[in-house]
Order: sequence, then C-alpha cells, then structure tokens
Amino acid sequence: MTTGTLRGQKICRTATASSNSRYVRKHILELAPYTPILPFEVLSEKFGFLPEDIVKLDANENPYGPPPEVAEALSSLKFPHVYPDPESRQLRQTLAKETGVPFENLIIGCGADELIDLLMRVVIDPNDVVINTPPTFGMYAFDCAVNGGTVVDVPRCNADGFKIDVEAIQRAVYKHKPKLLFLTSPNNPDGCVLSDRELLLMLELPVLVVLDEAYIEFASCKSHIADVVKYDNLIVLRTFSKCAALAGMRVGYGAFPKGLIDYIWRAKQPYNVSAAAEVAACAALSNPEYLQEVKGKLVQERTRLHSLLSRISYLKPYPSEANFVLCRVIGRDALQLKEKLAKNGIMVRHYSSPESISGCIRISVGRPEQTDAIVAVLSAI
Ligand SMILES: *Cc1c(COP(=O)(O)O)cnc(C)c1O
Repeated sequence: MTTGTLRGQKICRTATASSNSRYVRKHILELAPYTPILPFEVLSEKFGFLPEDIVKLDANENPYGPPPEVAEALSSLKFPHVYPDPESRQLRQTLAKETGVPFENLIIGCGADELIDLLMRVVIDPNDVVINTPPTFGMYAFDCAVNGGTVVDVPRCNADGFKIDVEAIQRAVYKHKPKLLFLTSPNNPDGCVLSDRELLLMLELPVLVVLDEAYIEFASCKSHIADVVKYDNLIVLRTFSKCAALAGMRVGYGAFPKGLIDYIWRAKQPYNVSAAAEVAACAALSNPEYLQEVKGKLVQERTRLHSLLSRISYLKPYPSEANFVLCRVIGRDALQLKEKLAKNGIMVRHYSSPESISGCIRISVGRPEQTDAIVAVLSAI
C-alpha cells in the first residue's frame, strides 16, 4: 500500500507486482527472482553461534585479514567528507609498479565484479553472445543476463579435472561470433589453471578474452596481467578480496588493452571506488611481506586440507591451485551434508547446478584449526 498527497488530495493505492512490472525491461522480467544472501552475523545467530565462532569456509575469504597497515590507514582517513579520486590515481600508480602494467591500462572497480558488469555495459548489445565455460564463476552469466546478452555455454571437460574444451570453444566462437569469452585461472569452483598454450589459442580467436585471475596469488603459475600490452583482445581482472583479505572493502582492478579502456572510462560511474577502499588497498600493498606470509600459510594449509579430505571415504576432492577445494560427495546427499556442517557452525558452499558439479561442495582453505574443526565433523558423520 502506498500513500501520498497529490495537490492536497490524499492518494492511496495498492502496489502489486503486476501493476508495475509493465514498466520493467523485458530481459529483466526474465531474470530469476532475487534470493537473499544472509550476512554471516544473521546466519550465526540462526545456528546459535557467535559470529567469531563460525568457521566460515563458504566464500573463499582470507581468514587472516589484511595487514595492520590497513586498519591504521582507515582510522586516519583524512578527507572522508570529500568525494574520492574518480581515477584512483594513487592505487593505479602503486599497481603499475607492482604488476608492470602501464598506469594507462589500469582501471579500479568496486570489486572485480563491478568491472565484469561495466565491460558488458560497454560491449554487449541486446542478444550479443558471451561464451561461458561452466562450471565457473556465476557472475559472468548473471551480468550477461542483466545486460540483455545471450550466454552460450561451452562446458569444461569433466573427465579432465575441468580443463576448458579448446576445440569446442573454437567452434563456438566461429559459429556464434561472441563478443566476450570468460576464462578463469585458477577456476572457481574447482581451482584448475589455464595453460599458456590454451590461453594463446584463445587469444588467436576473434573475441575479447577476459582472463579472471581472482585467485592467481595462490597458483604455481604467474599472472598474465602484463600481457595486456601485447594482445589487443586480452583483459585481465584481479581483486583485493581474496589474497589481500579485503572482500568487505570492495576493490578490484582490471588491465584493459589500449583501444578499449577509453570506452570503459566513459561508462564508469565517477565515484565507484570509495576513499576507504582505495586507501585500504594501498595500505595492503605497502606490506608485501605480510601478504606473502599469509599466502604461504594458505597454500600450505590447502595441501593439508586436501590430503585430510581425501581420507574421508565419501569425499573425492579435486586438485586445486586456489584457496579452496571442490569435493564430490559420493553416496550421500551433499545438501544435507552442508546443512549438517552448518548446524556445527561450519559454512561451506554447496552446488546443485550445473550438472557437472551437482552434488559437490566447495570448502575454502582456512586456518589450521578450522581445517581440524571441519575434518572432525566430516569424520564423525
Ligand atoms: C571472488 C571472485 C571475484 C570477485 O571479486 P570481487 O573483487 O570481490 O568482486 C571475481 N572472480 C572470481 C572467479 C571470484 O571467485
């Protein structure tokens, strides 16, 4: 029911979904209904735990948190009342030194997620095709739908540890003439990496290749971010959410080729990155020793977690180069397993789709005591 006044006359009417849906764009009407994601404080209350006692292994966050310089920088933020730099110059300068990518090729986003959407807003006309390689990160298909594009799925080779199907992608590119091809290395949710040869073959195709390296810090291979100056169809995305432990601050970045980045700037909201986010990211980069140490701990713990999980009779963990391990649940209901863990204060991610990972759970790498906690519950059931 909405009430208001119009020229002194009281108006009162019932708002129904159908009365206003006629204003909504057609492709938005077709989107799946929003399902709320409960914040972990609410979840912990629901299961009767204090937030600090929750073993949160469902979103690949870094449990060690950022280096102490971040809290110091945030508490001494000088100009919170002034709009931030729309060009995030300070952070881009630091990143240019860090990555070897020229300042001009870098752009900062409110998380890498914003850059995925921004790119689509710049290149996707209605019904333009985006090639997706499931199982992979859900935002590519989501943002494509929001922007009125068409997703063409080229599933990864399940038998081969979820490697991309190079020949099927080549065929799909020539058949559908897509604008974008999303590749993720290490891939979320399984953690396998793209080989240099696979990337080179993809870059030969007439399509913009988006290489999402959200987890590259945890992998044995190097980032390809500096290659954006060599290939005019390569875009590389990175984030501060995972290894740098700033998921709550929302800051990510992209390296774009010269002929494209000008248009990305034109479409970007001027104040997309908050002053706090920029300052926090710079502060995190000011302590590379800390980031290196935390990364080392997580990579070591990944090995231990994987080996403990492989000893559990009903789990088949996949090899991973990221800070999570995907497990197939054999002979049991994976959703029930997830709920059982939740009742014990342990959160993991469960998948019911796509088909190739239905009945899988993904466990983020945490602190050693968090590994011990989940392994104890998994062994007892
Ligand atoms: C977490 C994640 C991101 C998003 O990172 P934000 O910077 O937090 O938006 C991007 N890609 C993949 C594959 C991810 O898993």
